[in-house]
Amino acid sequence: MRYDIIVIGGGPAGLSAALQARTRNKRVLVVGARTEDIPLWKAGQVDNYLGMPGVSGRELLERFEAHAAALGMERMYGRALNAMPVEDGFLVSVGSEVVEGDALILATGTAHGAKYPGEAEHLGMGVSYCATCDGMFYRGRDVVVVGQSAEAPEEANYLHGLGCKVTYVAKTRPDTLDEAIPFRRGVKLEVVGEGNVSALRVDGEEIPCACVFLLRPSVAPGELLPGLEFRDGYIAVDRNMATSIPGVFAAGDCTGLPLQISKAVGEGLIAGHRAAEYLDRTREAGRNV
Ligand SMILES: Cc1cc2nc3c(=O)[nH]c(=O)nc-3n(C[C@H](O)[C@H](O)[C@H](O)COP(=O)(O)OP(=O)(O)OC[C@H]3O[C@@H](n4cnc5c(N)ncnc54)[C@H](O)[C@@H]3O)c2cc1C
Repeated sequence: MRYDIIVIGGGPAGLSAALQARTRNKRVLVVGARTEDIPLWKAGQVDNYLGMPGVSGRELLERFEAHAAALGMERMYGRALNAMPVEDGFLVSVGSEVVEGDALILATGTAHGAKYPGEAEHLGMGVSYCATCDGMFYRGRDVVVVGQSAEAPEEANYLHGLGCKVTYVAKTRPDTLDEAIPFRRGVKLEVVGEGNVSALRVDGEEIPCACVFLLRPSVAPGELLPGLEFRDGYIAVDRNMATSIPGVFAAGDCTGLPLQISKAVGEGLIAGHRAAEYLDRTREAGRNV
């Protein structure tokens, strides 16, 4: 499926960018977690959003999403695992699917979590970020799901259905996890194995397994799109919210302080407009060649 603009992240910045790009009549896809998995959902009361004192984070997100959807935003729930520039746009992998866009807006927030010891070394050797992509390889084998996203229980149930012998590790057992899947509470994690993964060490005790599925709600932007420039740990942007990569814009917490809703919504507006203008300009230039 091809879109004019793919927005990665469905928080305030991403939804604002999508809405604004829709007002410019662009076909827009927002890739991101379900609304209840967005950090702001947990805010009981927001007192500094103009005109809506005391609103809850949940109500704000529901209203943002409904507004953007009413204008024709399209939505895909899941994590973008990788974005790759190609000759005439970008390919974005979301789980086992690939979507194409002519421009990208990164609105990924800041909550990405540090890597676990042993994670980077075992990537592709028994560490996976995608159950639907890699589950088939581990049929009949022991796997551990580290569940940090709202979709993680669903993905663990999927692996169980495939025939993987799943252990689920998280801070608390989710209600929607299949009763047949054993649960292990764990905080301090380490991926271990000589070459391939042989176990996940959970608070000092090893769970033997062939694969560890690390299911977080997000992917750090530098891993998502190699080549992006950063400033003080945030994606570097100019006043048009353009990043160092042509056709890629960024907005919200991922571009820096203050980490606030109003700033995310405002930057989303600029990114949405500027991405739309970028497309109009490059298409016009293409016609005149
Ligand atoms: C409990 C709490 C209370 C808060 N209270 C206030 C307040 O009162 N006032 C205020 O102004 N601000 C408040 N904030 C801060 C505010 O929530 C943020 O500044 C704002 O949400 C930033 O919006 P954003 O869209 O940039 O990022 P986020 O809201 O973080 O949204 C980014 C989304 O992108 C997703 N994502 C990241 N990578 C990927 C990927 N690879 N694929 C798909 N999706 C991805 C993330 O999972 C996340 O869902 C609060 C935050 C929290 C957590």
